[in-house]
Amino acid sequence: MAGIKRGDDGKIAGLYDLDKTLGRGHFAVVKLARHVFTGEKVAVKVIDKTKLDTVATGHLFQEVRCMKLVQHPNIVRLYEVIDTQTKLYLILELGDGGDMFDYIMKHEEGLTEELAKKYFAQIVHAISYCHRLHVVHRDLKPENVVFFEKQGLVKLTDFGFSNKFQPGKKLTTSCGSLAYSAPEILLGDEYDAPAVDIWSLGVILFMLVCGQPPFQEANDSETLTMIMDCKYTVPAHVSNACKDLINRMLQRDPKRRASLEEIESHAWLQGVDPSPATKFNTPLVSHKNLSEEEHNSIIQRMVLGDIADRELNNDIINIIIILLLLLSLSYQAYAVS
Ligand code: ATP
Repeated sequence: MAGIKRGDDGKIAGLYDLDKTLGRGHFAVVKLARHVFTGEKVAVKVIDKTKLDTVATGHLFQEVRCMKLVQHPNIVRLYEVIDTQTKLYLILELGDGGDMFDYIMKHEEGLTEELAKKYFAQIVHAISYCHRLHVVHRDLKPENVVFFEKQGLVKLTDFGFSNKFQPGKKLTTSCGSLAYSAPEILLGDEYDAPAVDIWSLGVILFMLVCGQPPFQEANDSETLTMIMDCKYTVPAHVSNACKDLINRMLQRDPKRRASLEEIESHAWLQGVDPSPATKFNTPLVSHKNLSEEEHNSIIQRMVLGDIADRELNNDIINIIIILLLLLSLSYQAYAVS
């Protein structure tokens, strides 16, 4: 990590100008920021290291390790880590549409199932990728899903509680937020790591289609009882297929919970593209998808500018794109190394 000093307020040593706050968590504040030279907009997660105990510091380094490891179009990219004496700055791909919790709160009765399906499929796609890498998120909740409106995607963030697991081996650390936590975590038992993420997926799907969490009582002890008894009510407007999928994930016994394969092949999730993100597979720092129209207009301008004839221009554009790709990939390899 680079040993860079923090300058006056609102700047990271002349590298990024910090702007408005995008969100806050228990351990961090996330700010909009602009690269001083390129003007590139990013999200910067600012963590005050002086407020962290040993356990939280462990989570922080776990987050950095896991976010460097996972590279998926539905997972927020970690571009760079800037470490100073008192603060750690995670330079992240910027979400332009707020987080899923705020979005759900604007839809009292939940989203249409069509829309819920679109977003849920992408979250499942990202988690399926993480589990294949033996990384569990363990703090899946709508606050940790960020909208990328221009790309038409949602992406997972906040790997602060994530961990590497060995298949078959149990984990013990308790983490996450009460309303989203699986029963076995609350009991403090050893638990099967991937099954915990499946429970949280159940909570997220419930929230998407109902507009509120499945377990949210007047106080924590009542909420806890409802989670332990796995008691929740799905409103009547939710389709039977969707209810069934929620029920397959919100199972008290982790062994009886649906596997990711079962979720992916469930009737309710059919007919939706689980990876519209593959169109955006190149994680450019400033990825901008050119429409056919924009592409043609660039060619037109090059032709008018007498730079080259049409065929040659197409070749030139292809060469420029390849060069940009190579530049971007080497930049990213440098940034996360
Ligand atoms: P927690 O208390 O859940 O551990 P945290 O302190 O780790 O949270 P994050 O969850 O990473 O912080 O971020 C807090 C909020 O900042 C998110 O809920 C979201 O609203 C916003 N946010 C996070 N990352 C981004 C991003 N890459 N782009 C835009 N907004 C973001």
